[in-house]
Amino acid sequence: MSGLDPSGGAGIQADIQAITALGAHPLPVLTCLTVQDTCNVYSATAVDADLIRAQLERLEGDTAIHAVKTGALGNAKVVAVLLEFLARHPNLPLIVDPVIKAAGGGDLADLELIESMTRQLFNHAEVITPNGIELVLLGHSDNEEQAARHILDAGCQSVLATGGHGEGPDIINTLYRGHTPPKHWAVERVGGEYHGTGCTLAASIAAGRAAGLSLEEAIEQAQRFVSAAIGRALAVGKGQPVPDRSIVLPRPSS
Ligand code: PLP
Repeated sequence: MSGLDPSGGAGIQADIQAITALGAHPLPVLTCLTVQDTCNVYSATAVDADLIRAQLERLEGDTAIHAVKTGALGNAKVVAVLLEFLARHPNLPLIVDPVIKAAGGGDLADLELIESMTRQLFNHAEVITPNGIELVLLGHSDNEEQAARHILDAGCQSVLATGGHGEGPDIINTLYRGHTPPKHWAVERVGGEYHGTGCTLAASIAAGRAAGLSLEEAIEQAQRFVSAAIGRALAVGKGQPVPDRSIVLPRPSS
């Protein structure tokens, strides 16, 4: 579930492309329509929550659903409908990309939506995947571990803090869980910023979980997929390049 970015960089298009490339079948439920280009988001209008409820009811009556990924959610009413769905499917892996702002600074969530995500949705999540900016905003700390632990207090099973906005030769992504030590992954930093990497990562994790991978295996596959897609990024517009998700992922080297 995510929003439409008509520049094709982020949102539902990123999800559909990544999930398809990783061999799963996406069921794209659209949560909001944005006005945006590759530089910024200028407005976002939520899809009617009753329409989304009807879509989810039809889908669950028709097909097996193996994972849910959320991105921009539009408004708190959409979260309420999603919560109704999750109450009927308590064991589905839920991957939450807590989208709040576009890279250009445009808002993708108001305060009511942020509150409903943090207070009601996070506790259903298997993993929440904040980027550095979202981590500080939601975790109320500049310290990554403290911020991640604060988000864990909301009741989710794990937080994958992504280091794409940091510096250094490698991007360090870290999985924080309640009682086990953090797990770090070092991913080679290509340099630059890319539109829709957070969506691509979270959707790829969901595709892996839907295909039966463990969470750690799904994260590893997702990181390889994002790196490969960024390595062939497309200069679509005047803003950030867009990861090329039309790739076939090479097999792991080990
Ligand atoms: N979802 C939508 C609809 C968006 O427009 C954006 C950013 O512009 C995002 C999600 C977040 O994108 P990213 O993957 O860069 O975090």
